[in-house]
Amino acid sequence: MLRSPILAAARSPRTRSLVENLPPTKAIVDRFVAGDAMADAVRVTRELVDSGRKVTLDHLGEDTADRAQADATVLAYDALLATLGETGLARSAEVSVKLSAVGQFLPGDGERIALENARRICTAAAAVGTTVTLDMEDHTTTDSTLGILRELRADFPWVGAVLQAYLYRTEQDCRDLAYEGSRVRLCKGAYQEPESVAFQEKGDVDRSYVRCLRVLMAGAGYPMVASHDPRLIAIARHLADRAGRAPGSFEFQMLYGIRPEEQMRIVEHGDLMRIYLPYGAEWYGYFMRRLAERPANLTFFLRSLATKG
Ligand SMILES: Cc1cc2nc3c(=O)[nH]c(=O)nc-3n(C[C@H](O)[C@H](O)[C@H](O)COP(=O)(O)OP(=O)(O)OC[C@H]3O[C@@H](n4cnc5c(N)ncnc54)[C@H](O)[C@@H]3O)c2cc1C
Repeated sequence: MLRSPILAAARSPRTRSLVENLPPTKAIVDRFVAGDAMADAVRVTRELVDSGRKVTLDHLGEDTADRAQADATVLAYDALLATLGETGLARSAEVSVKLSAVGQFLPGDGERIALENARRICTAAAAVGTTVTLDMEDHTTTDSTLGILRELRADFPWVGAVLQAYLYRTEQDCRDLAYEGSRVRLCKGAYQEPESVAFQEKGDVDRSYVRCLRVLMAGAGYPMVASHDPRLIAIARHLADRAGRAPGSFEFQMLYGIRPEEQMRIVEHGDLMRIYLPYGAEWYGYFMRRLAERPANLTFFLRSLATKG
């Protein structure tokens, strides 16, 4: 019930400046974000890697409206990837990129700019021996993002895709992408989507997730099971067994700060566990989507405002 207004607020500049300036916000944001600086991201990556987890790093930012900011994002990824290479972390850490942060929405030739910028990030990743996964944003970007994925994969076949189980189209997208070497992260989906394109009920989204998982696990690609839902994790294991998949032929993924004990149980079980680790000053949209996913997060947030007030 609260999900829609929170997701609407995630796109509102007025709510953004209100939330960003509330005194207790930063402490709560820190649960989900490594910190503002690249050094914070590298420090937390080291901790996660030392505990047996893999990492995918996200330099926060989305919906970039100017070219200079898109270029600055590419430079931030370049610097991060070089540091991952120098510190030996590139063996265990890759990067996730939002195409809207590197120019996809720029007027005129935004798509071409995003493709060129993503290509630069892929070149930097290749230089240190790691990979890139393209995050998926709202449904108006799906075709464009999958188009850019296809172009990138011609040169960098290891570029990962993200598919969202709440979209009706996704089961077919899974079939199209379940080929040898194709890395596909399957998540439920975090944006506010209309009934014309997406399931609205949790039960329907979960059932779609299982259908998509079946396709990916039975296929020849590399499934990345991005969910904190214990039932879906158990089903993923069952489907992997049934498809005769060895450990290491798929992986689980969770967001930094969410269900850390379960993350460690998955590591101890012998499965690959990768943590999505965001960092940077542009945390607002990411943080609001995490609040929308779980009413308890919002209650906690509001309670801390009340006690500070
Ligand atoms: C690695 C990774 C990458 C992702 N990339 C994308 C992307 O590119 N595009 C996109 O649209 N979405 C992305 N998502 C978000 C995803 O779509 C979901 O919104 C999110 O993962 C919650 O769904 P769930 O599968 O965990 O199931 P849910 O049914 O939402 O949650 C299951 C359980 O997990 C815990 N949980 C879930 N969310 C939270 C939270 N915010 N705070 C505290 N506990 C929580 C709770 O215990 C909950 O009961 C990504 C998720 C992951 C893990």
